[in-house]
Amino acid sequence: MLIEHYDLDVFTPPCEPGGEKFSAIARLTVDISEVLPYLNATLRGAIYYRAANALTWKKGGHNLAFHAYQIATGNVEDYDAAVKEIDGLIKLINRTWERRAEITPDFETRQRPPLMTIYKLLPQTNCKQCGEPTCYSFAIKLVASQKTLAECAPLTEPQHAAKLAALQAIVIDAPAIG
Ligand code: SF4
Repeated sequence: MLIEHYDLDVFTPPCEPGGEKFSAIARLTVDISEVLPYLNATLRGAIYYRAANALTWKKGGHNLAFHAYQIATGNVEDYDAAVKEIDGLIKLINRTWERRAEITPDFETRQRPPLMTIYKLLPQTNCKQCGEPTCYSFAIKLVASQKTLAECAPLTEPQHAAKLAALQAIVIDAPAIG
């Protein structure tokens, strides 16, 4: 197991005293730098900053950041949810580290594709089959890795084949772990 112990701080950011959102930081006693390229290879929408030894990820509207000796999360609903989220991230890291022989590490920095580029490649019919009111709101969630291309059923129609191929080339759409 890579991470066996950590110290946890859960707090409301000073800019929103009494606010409803919480942040949490897990301070680690081991360096997790080596696991970051494996997380980069397996987490949909992760952005790896090799020079800074850091990785960011957005999951369920929460901004997550992984550094050598620290994991942070923000925008969490309450104290218990923040504790649970950090616990889940620790387990994710340990699981990824244990599986590293099966994963090809990815040292590339993948930027999120531009929103308008994504939007223009969608069918733009606002049919709502994806659960979003408009193709534009779907595009926002796709860029943030909160939706996947598979959730837009019309993209599989033959007339959209070229657009689907273009989207598949630029959208980070790999299955997430955990
Ligand atoms: S399912 Fe596709 S075409 Fe329909 S609203 Fe969602 S993104 Fe637009």
